Amino acid sequence: MSEYEIVVAGAGIWGCTVARGLAEAGQRVLVLEKRSAVGGNVRCETDADTGIEIHTYGSHIFHTHLPEVWKFINRFAEFNGYQHKVLANYKGRIYSLPLGLAMINKFFGVELKPSEVDAFMKNEAHSSALFDAFFRGYTSKQWGRPPEAIDPSIIRRVPVRSNYDTNYFNDYNQGIPLAGYNSVFDRMLDHPNITVACGRAFSLDDLAEFSRASVFYSGPVDALFGYSFGHLPWRTLRFERETLDLPDYQGTSVVNYTEAEVPYTRIHEFKHYHPEGLLNGTWGFNAKKTVIMREYPATWKPGDEPYYPVDCEESRTLLSKYQDAARKYPNLVIGGRLGGYKYYDMDQSIAAALETVAGFLK
Ligand SMILES: Cc1cc2nc3c(=O)[nH]c(=O)nc-3n(C[C@H](O)[C@H](O)[C@H](O)COP(=O)(O)OP(=O)(O)OC[C@H]3O[C@@H](n4cnc5c(N)ncnc54)[C@H](O)[C@@H]3O)c2cc1C
Repeated sequence: MSEYEIVVAGAGIWGCTVARGLAEAGQRVLVLEKRSAVGGNVRCETDADTGIEIHTYGSHIFHTHLPEVWKFINRFAEFNGYQHKVLANYKGRIYSLPLGLAMINKFFGVELKPSEVDAFMKNEAHSSALFDAFFRGYTSKQWGRPPEAIDPSIIRRVPVRSNYDTNYFNDYNQGIPLAGYNSVFDRMLDHPNITVACGRAFSLDDLAEFSRASVFYSGPVDALFGYSFGHLPWRTLRFERETLDLPDYQGTSVVNYTEAEVPYTRIHEFKHYHPEGLLNGTWGFNAKKTVIMREYPATWKPGDEPYYPVDCEESRTLLSKYQDAARKYPNLVIGGRLGGYKYYDMDQSIAAALETVAGFLK
């Protein structure tokens, strides 16, 4: 094992990008992944019954405005051009997100023109009604707080679109890999300088074995130091999957359930991520069945999958203690969402990893 110049611990999108970048620069790279397969939380599985690609850790849509990231990812994936739209179910009626003309006009039963949106939203009664219907309950479920505790002023920070654009993201480049997400990771790691070992968790003790290597770690930073200062708080998610004898359940990939009384936040229906399947019959789109997944947020406890870092004074203090501890290891670089205790979209993970590689090679 000591023949490797680089050890990448954690094969999520951050680790795979680091591994690929350094391998292409001529470094011999060993990738250690705790799970039985690479890809981290972007990993998918093919449903045996329907052939539909299931996003195991929740819906993942690739989107970016960063040209270097788009160029990089396109070396390993061909995208299907899927454009993400999200609907909201409030009291059984369906509205288009994000907050824009389509939602406002349907909710209030009006026909506003773009030039009228600003003044309409400045009226406290209108913004409060929208906040109560679409943000209060959803945010309270997402972060595990009572609906009354959600600060109504957040509605003023939500961007309002004065048009009918219901594209969920502002990024021009969007899509789902035609061959599925797993193939992207297989292709990224397919390089003569890269060796992959799955089912192998990296620990601080391994630093002695790899003392002559540079280690790039993207597992949880508190776990690396044996939780010596305590656990960083996370929100976790529980997913409940169901196969239905229907060709189509909700007509779109994601519907948010915005009322506090509905225990889940979203329902994902994965076949809609591959609309090209409608044309060529792949990905189970023409199958008579569909797979849906309900998403339930919960407070993280040891043993749960960490999903969203919780930004609070306690977590900031803990994080800086772990960051100080990490600085004592000159051959250790910590990154990714778990290492950095930071929410990153996939493109931001790639951008951060490319920057890490460039900094290392300088
Ligand atoms: C619910 C949800 C939905 C999301 N949807 C989107 C989306 O639509 N679009 C988008 O762009 N982004 C989305 N994201 C963000 C996306 O998941 C992250 O950007 C991405 O997973 C970050 O990759 P990573 O490599 O940092 O971390 P991870 O994917 O978590 O990878 C870390 C890897 O390290 C491994 N590991 C942990 N400890 C060790 C150890 N000790 N030794 C070895 N390996 C270890 C883990 O098993 C894992 O494979 C979403 C995130 C969430 C929570």
